[in-house]
Amino acid sequence: MGKKAERINVLSPLSLRELGAWLKEYPAAVFMAGGSDLIQKYNEHPHAGIPDTVISLSQIDELGRIKRKEQGIEIGACVPMSRILSTGQNIVPRILLDAIARIATPSVRNLATIGGNICMVSPFSDVLVPLVLLEAKLEIRGPASHFWMPLTRFLRTPGRMPLLSSEILASVAIPVIQPDVQVYRKLEVISIPTLSVLTFAAMARIFRNTVTDFRIVYGGLDPLFMRNRELESSVTGRKIPLSLKFREQYEQKTREFIQECDPGFLPDRYHRNSAIRLTRLFLEKVSTYRTD
Ligand SMILES: Cc1cc2nc3c(=O)[nH]c(=O)nc-3n(C[C@H](O)[C@H](O)[C@H](O)COP(=O)(O)OP(=O)(O)OC[C@H]3O[C@@H](n4cnc5c(N)ncnc54)[C@H](O)[C@@H]3O)c2cc1C
Repeated sequence: MGKKAERINVLSPLSLRELGAWLKEYPAAVFMAGGSDLIQKYNEHPHAGIPDTVISLSQIDELGRIKRKEQGIEIGACVPMSRILSTGQNIVPRILLDAIARIATPSVRNLATIGGNICMVSPFSDVLVPLVLLEAKLEIRGPASHFWMPLTRFLRTPGRMPLLSSEILASVAIPVIQPDVQVYRKLEVISIPTLSVLTFAAMARIFRNTVTDFRIVYGGLDPLFMRNRELESSVTGRKIPLSLKFREQYEQKTREFIQECDPGFLPDRYHRNSAIRLTRLFLEKVSTYRTD
């Protein structure tokens, strides 16, 4: 990208093969999926340097599919949020559907793709924290590469994808887990001088009054998320209802954990306190879950 382009060359390959051919000819091209972020960025900052060539990924057949697999589902990177909501009701984990349903408006969800939301590597993206909770993996493709990586590795540096400029996110693999108790919340404060956000995603599975799986992921600014597996495993195997004493101890350890996190993670005290409060409420919800 350099000076402001007067005319943008937009290419729309129909297959990954065709994409590879265009990339050889235009190695400096910028990828676009739904365009909801990219177009807004160039509208707001027209002097930031509009690229000469944009490759639209939205017509590539392989990137627009939702596939059922033995261990879960694979969602193509260019599947719009609205289609995940309409066709994924019975196969996509509820916590991800809840997160997608709160994204902006139906018209934004018609454009915005799941891949674009991930590729922003933004603390304000709604799908990231639920996908970390579900332990999603990403399929990456490039002219000379094809591999999978855990989403957690993709999210190491806020605002920057760990990909070569010729590589794309092709799909997201999500193990299908239907938890018995789940919560998704996003609390934002965008004010001067504070820029802060808290995303909270939690799930538990309960079998015969015993907690068999318990996870909480906290989303913040930098790092983008935190998870304490040691604390989580202290709940697994416990009978419900959880005792008040245990819940209070868990809350105290969460307080210490949040306080010890990098100061850039949840810079706002309101969000640090909210993380502890949401944890307490989630423990209460798990504790009062009825299996019969
Ligand atoms: C009015 C408005 C409200 C919004 N509200 C919310 C909200 O509430 N919650 C929320 O989470 N988001 C929100 N967003 C952000 C936005 O909708 C998402 O981030 C969207 O999912 C981006 O997807 P896209 O397909 O439009 O990406 P694009 O704009 O096409 O691309 C975004 C970036 O990702 C890159 N990219 C896209 N796909 C790929 C790929 N497959 N491989 C490699 N690189 C790729 C592009 O090069 C670009 O840099 C909002 C946006 C707008 C305009």
